[in-house]
Amino acid sequence: MEPALLCSSCAGPLPRTFDRTCPRCGWDNQVAIRKCLQCKGMITLNETMTYRSIAGSIIALGLISWYFLGQLLGGAVGLGIGSICALTTLVNLRHKCGGCGRRPEGRLLSRHDKNSLWLRRLSYLVGALVFATGAGVLYLKNRGRTG
Ligand SMILES: [Zn+2]
Ligand SMILES: [Zn+2]
Repeated sequence: MEPALLCSSCAGPLPRTFDRTCPRCGWDNQVAIRKCLQCKGMITLNETMTYRSIAGSIIALGLISWYFLGQLLGGAVGLGIGSICALTTLVNLRHKCGGCGRRPEGRLLSRHDKNSLWLRRLSYLVGALVFATGAGVLYLKNRGRTG
């Protein structure tokens, strides 16, 4: 008898089928992605706003407020909004099924999944802090100039 195939995520036994998706945790051992146990949709990190859309709104709002408030305050508003967006994404960041929107249970996620979630959270936290600092600096510069 061949040795049993084990899931590389939860170490549970895999069925000997063409589809190497683990029936316990949804980890697809063939293409190394996690799938929803309910609908077989792909589980991804759900980001309210990606860095790209955050950058887009910083530029758009920054330019609009630049027009009305001037360069420094405009930049401060844009970066402030960016910081709020990054924080919102940070708070809402979680694994979610792309098909049915279901959240996988925490026990099904591997250490690798959790690590990437925390790394992602950390990157948004750093982003939010950088944006907030930038906004504060621009705001203070503006105050120093007018006051
Ligand atoms: Zn598994
Ligand atoms: Zn699903």
